[in-house]
Amino acid sequence: MRIEADTKLDFKDVLIRPKRSTLASRRDVDIARNFTFRHSGAAFAGVPLIAANMDGVGTFAMARAFAEDGNGLTVALHKHYPLDALIAFWDAEPAAAAQVWYSIGLAEEDEDKLQAFLAARPGAVTRLCLDVANGYAEPFVEAVRRLKEGLARDMTLMAGNVVTGEMVEELTLAGVDVVKVGIGPGSVCTTRTMTGVGYPQLSAIIECADAAHGLKGLICADGGCAVPGDVAKAFGAGADFVMLGGMLAGHDQAEEPVVDGEIVFHGMSSTRAMDRHKGGVAEYRASEGKAVRVPRRGDVAATLQDILGGLRSACTYVGAQRLKELSKRTTFICVGQQVNDAFTGREG
Ligand code: 5GP
Repeated sequence: MRIEADTKLDFKDVLIRPKRSTLASRRDVDIARNFTFRHSGAAFAGVPLIAANMDGVGTFAMARAFAEDGNGLTVALHKHYPLDALIAFWDAEPAAAAQVWYSIGLAEEDEDKLQAFLAARPGAVTRLCLDVANGYAEPFVEAVRRLKEGLARDMTLMAGNVVTGEMVEELTLAGVDVVKVGIGPGSVCTTRTMTGVGYPQLSAIIECADAAHGLKGLICADGGCAVPGDVAKAFGAGADFVMLGGMLAGHDQAEEPVVDGEIVFHGMSSTRAMDRHKGGVAEYRASEGKAVRVPRRGDVAATLQDILGGLRSACTYVGAQRLKELSKRTTFICVGQQVNDAFTGREG
């Protein structure tokens, strides 16, 4: 047994220190980014926020809303859409389909479905998200290598999740364009309580961004943002992309039934998700997610405006004219335990 005694930080432990600046208004701030992905060579231009590949968030309807929004936000589609629905979506809605990451896990059926989709629509998938709960497992790294040599050869690959620099380096060198960072911070995740495993998200972002950027790779901070200020902190810490689940839950785009004015939002490894998609929780594993009821929040457009407005304003406070400059201009001050409790879902 070993103990690492240095303190690791979460979003709630810090605030961003304001700095003198010449910016007069948040209108002067550009929160879009331009990237050329390390392996695929593809270009990205847009606000680097991604809707999480959860079935209450990573939906066709969300992709439609993001396409309409016009800021270049993207959606990691959840992996449970059937093949015919995916084909129909790509055929009928090319503008929305251009906003998405196609998601898979490690299950054989996921790769089979991707293969069938590519056989039906060659070249249709340009961005792939390989998502596993534990990015430290050898089969995950093997899957990355297999995909890069085969199915995903020409695609931009986002994969994770991990929380430490050495794993970011390994994945970046193995062919991952964007390493997804976060174990345990999610709003409906119970990994920390069920297993005791995790890493405070702000420190994970700082350490993983440093490792990725040293190799010209990128990271996506995934999980734990509960308010727009957390999104600003994630970018301030060095995240290239930020993935949002709970903050985008409860909207008209959820594709979930509304019960008594509320929508149930659940973790993708919660009992509810496994009942719905897998016919129950396998005997050898425990649920590591929960379900919460969230009040209906209407169209996601208003929430996006809040998030993007908050981010622009954060840039103004530190004098970053472009989002790209935010992390260079950020000084965090430690404030002890300040709780952001804006995510108001109650368990159920
Ligand atoms: P949020 O933005 O809601 O804080 O976090 C979203 C992230 O939580 C997702 O992108 C995913 O990485 C993670 N997540 C989603 N469902 C589950 C779950 O059931 N268990 C765990 N451990 N993490 C989850």
